[in-house]
Amino acid sequence: MIIVLERQIRDDHKDRIRRFLEQHGFRVREIVGEEETIFGAVGQLSIDHREVEVLPGVVRVIPISKPFKLASRELKREDTIVPVGDVKIGSGRVAVIAGPCSVENPDVMYETAEIVKRSGGVMLRGGAFKPRTSPYAFQGSGEDGLKLLREVGDHFGMPIVSEIVSSEHYDMMREYVDVFQIGTRNMQNFELLKVVGAGGMPVILKRGLAATIQEWLMAAEYLLAHGSEHVILCERGIRTFETATRNTLDISAIPVAKKLTHLPIMVDPSHATGIREKVSPVALASIAAGADGLLVEVHPRPEEALSDGPQTLFPEQFERLMRDIEALCPVVEKQLSRLPEKGERRPQFSGMRSPGSEVAAAGERSGREVADGERRAEELAVAFQGEHGAYSEIALRRFFQSDDIRSAPCSEFRDVFDSVLEGKTRFGVLPIENSLSGSIHENYDLLLQYPDLRIVGEIKIRIIHSLIAVPGAELQDIERVYSHPQGFAQCARFLAEHPDWERVPFYDTAGSVAHIAREGDKRCAAIAGAEAARAYGMHVIKEGLETNPQNYTRFVVLVREEYAATPNPDKASIVFTTSDTPGALFECLRVIAERKLNMKKLESRPILGKPWHPMFYVDMEIPSLEVFEAAYAALGEVAENLRLLGTYRAQ
Ligand code: PEP
Ligand code: MN
Repeated sequence: MIIVLERQIRDDHKDRIRRFLEQHGFRVREIVGEEETIFGAVGQLSIDHREVEVLPGVVRVIPISKPFKLASRELKREDTIVPVGDVKIGSGRVAVIAGPCSVENPDVMYETAEIVKRSGGVMLRGGAFKPRTSPYAFQGSGEDGLKLLREVGDHFGMPIVSEIVSSEHYDMMREYVDVFQIGTRNMQNFELLKVVGAGGMPVILKRGLAATIQEWLMAAEYLLAHGSEHVILCERGIRTFETATRNTLDISAIPVAKKLTHLPIMVDPSHATGIREKVSPVALASIAAGADGLLVEVHPRPEEALSDGPQTLFPEQFERLMRDIEALCPVVEKQLSRLPEKGERRPQFSGMRSPGSEVAAAGERSGREVADGERRAEELAVAFQGEHGAYSEIALRRFFQSDDIRSAPCSEFRDVFDSVLEGKTRFGVLPIENSLSGSIHENYDLLLQYPDLRIVGEIKIRIIHSLIAVPGAELQDIERVYSHPQGFAQCARFLAEHPDWERVPFYDTAGSVAHIAREGDKRCAAIAGAEAARAYGMHVIKEGLETNPQNYTRFVVLVREEYAATPNPDKASIVFTTSDTPGALFECLRVIAERKLNMKKLESRPILGKPWHPMFYVDMEIPSLEVFEAAYAALGEVAENLRLLGTYRAQ
């Protein structure tokens, strides 16, 4: 059952409730949510709920209707995030784990890990104990294999995953692995589940070959009931009458299970299909269906793999798949998980490293540790324009992959620049370009006015507009609608269906939601992101109002120049003018072309006070900082007023 506690509950009342439940044979787990704190109590005995309801500090008691309790969404509404070293799995992220089916020799392992890391995988997989159908097939390399997997994982800064097949191996294996995998054949090996659960390490629990979703969740319940909090489910195909593929990927299991459980769900497209050429399409479909990540088999030479070669991707196929996933992520409103650059695995809190890792890592520490840290809390704050719930705030949370950073709302774009310049916040996030309406010129102009700031990162998010009103209001109640003029423009087709509505332009979409929340009038609605509805306790009447769903905004992350050292940047943004002579721009572009730098954007802007003499903004892909620096120096010879806006990692 779920016991909802009072918001300001006294400690002695909390202790008393816990004691009461434990005395009645319940196992109690405290869950601190965004909106409320609850106790989840599970046990074999039943109890009259009213006995708990009358205890001081209890708001209400809700029975859990499902046979799985700790795994159920009834108990915990928010998505569980499983942390593994620097990687987080679940809730808005797509994490890709890859590697060979079995741990092989050092050459294969180092080569594979290099491919996985370079292409954007965040963890390395490899089985050392292989549950093979035939007793004559390769059974795995055992502890030696785990030692090697650990060595290679450490070398590349990647956590490692390996399958456990017997509880006797548990103590030995925990010395090596970061995540245990429980394979399909052992999903209902309850003694193994108990041992792995009690150890408390993160676990990937594969769905059994012929297990129902409920049986799968009951297996997860075993792990949770015995102590593990970090369970990741993995759909890997089930047995059906179909023989065209090795198994049948149950793609609908992803949304079905997501509704039933708060646990992250990954998909293994390799074992699901058993055929290399089917792996990538099915992998992409899984992400589209809501999977939180993938477990993929990849090998430098799959035809030589010791097991599962036919379903193992070639390096080029894996690389291509990763690029496709990256393109798909904004469509499904997720962010591809990334490892921090090497050498900055833990926050050193001295000097700027990579903004993402710094803040994400700080978010993982306890409040006390952060307070004791060498930096002040303000330094981990990020300024954005708009009110809470704005698209910029969604972008910054995705970029930093953390919900724990302090986001500082600013009313104007210029205030964001000032906040970073004056050190009120370490970072600023600004929209720079929209896929439908083009560049946000005000921010391009401001970039020039703040030469001490640099771009250190970028992120693209999909813009989905919703019609938001006070709880209880319905479509037919609406008479007036508030939004930013861009919001109206992007929802023109929807608004045309409601010609009687009065449209009131507002300075900011999330601000219009704050406004209708203050007004509390059923006749008023706002057009903004669903996040803004959550931020102000409002209700979404209709989602996806935008006429064109291909609506993305690119945001940049700014810091003061002295902190702007992104390791291994692969993109650069510059701005320059040219002399007013024939071929002047061509000469500048020749420098870029000759060095084979791939230009991603070229835009001209008028210079204030100098009519008909434009500035040129250029974004380009760079293979390394050295190559870019040489090009930049050469550009300095032919361009005028050359300025660096930043070098960063493209998203
Ligand atoms: C594996 O991932 O190597 C494996 C054996 O998977 P499954 O348990 O899904 O067959
Ligand atoms: Mn395999």
